[in-house]
Amino acid sequence: MSEWSRETIAVTAGRPAPVPDAPLNTPIVPASSFRAGGPMEYAREAAPTSLALEEAIGALETGIATVYASGMAAANAAMDLVPMGGTVVAPSAAYTGVAVRLRELHAIGRIDLRIVEADDTASIASAVIGSHLLWLESPTNPMMQVADLPACITAAHDAGAIVLVDNTFATPILQRPLEMGADIVMHSVTKALSGHSDLLLGALVTRDADRAVAFASRRVLLGAAPSAFDCYLALRGLRTLAIRVARAERNAQYVTQRLAEHPCVDVVRYPGWGTMASIQVHGGKDEADAVCTRVKLWTHATSLGGVESLLERRRRWPLESQTVPESLLRLSFGIEQDVDLWADLDGALRG
Ligand SMILES: *Cc1c(COP(=O)(O)O)cnc(C)c1O
Repeated sequence: MSEWSRETIAVTAGRPAPVPDAPLNTPIVPASSFRAGGPMEYAREAAPTSLALEEAIGALETGIATVYASGMAAANAAMDLVPMGGTVVAPSAAYTGVAVRLRELHAIGRIDLRIVEADDTASIASAVIGSHLLWLESPTNPMMQVADLPACITAAHDAGAIVLVDNTFATPILQRPLEMGADIVMHSVTKALSGHSDLLLGALVTRDADRAVAFASRRVLLGAAPSAFDCYLALRGLRTLAIRVARAERNAQYVTQRLAEHPCVDVVRYPGWGTMASIQVHGGKDEADAVCTRVKLWTHATSLGGVESLLERRRRWPLESQTVPESLLRLSFGIEQDVDLWADLDGALRG
């Protein structure tokens, strides 16, 4: 099974055992409690539908997965394992919820926090000295900075720190941090893994069995258990992950190439791969807001990774990092036809 490619694993992993009359898909099992004597017992500990999703995400990321009620629940479970007063190194423009939560934990004295730029490997290498955890995103949200993951991971390990990579933007189809030596992969399963903007889920993945037990106990003790229905939907969405990512990536490449020469666009931030991009609109904040009201095919909404293309001005959120330009629109590419996405965005930019 481990010989199979990611595209195949996305379709095959987390299925019921292949015995006669077994359903092809793991059923939704709505249960809080299970007859005693087995490994499940109570749904915060484990449940059939979430176990199947964990098997699939674990197979894709090559580790042991624990699923939570949201990406933020997964993030908090990981933060909870930093020792009292331990130092966390994190990027300046990370996912807003993560950045705000780390600042809160710093403000109350729970952790020490060092902020770095994700694409500045040299400063990361010095910041990790004496730290406990290097928290990385690559590409970063919404600045689309790409970290040199192997170099950052090596520097952190040399300094005795562990490395978490939020792999939500890249997905395991395009990037597998555990294979590069990262200790923990985090996902907002809400986004591309499930892919249909109809649920909230999160996951942590590790190859360390003791750490996986600790992650499972965070779910039991912090209480952020996923619902069976959401796990079912996520598994269903996961089956098409590879073709959705390939199609959305092609759309992103098609549109960003044309945006690079657009008279109404000052900056295009796109690393050349992946399904996310950001642009800075000529004319600043008000013009960027106006573009969001003029699009017809694109939807003005937050979030990302769904089959439908979304855009939003990130600074409309009061807690977004001040380093993000006011005129920046984040684009999440869906699986519509490239020429239609281009025509709609081009028209909205020109007014
Ligand atoms: C959405 C997101 C999160 C938070 O996940 P939720 O499922 O919304 O709680 C964390 N990191 C990144 C990169 C995200 O896009």
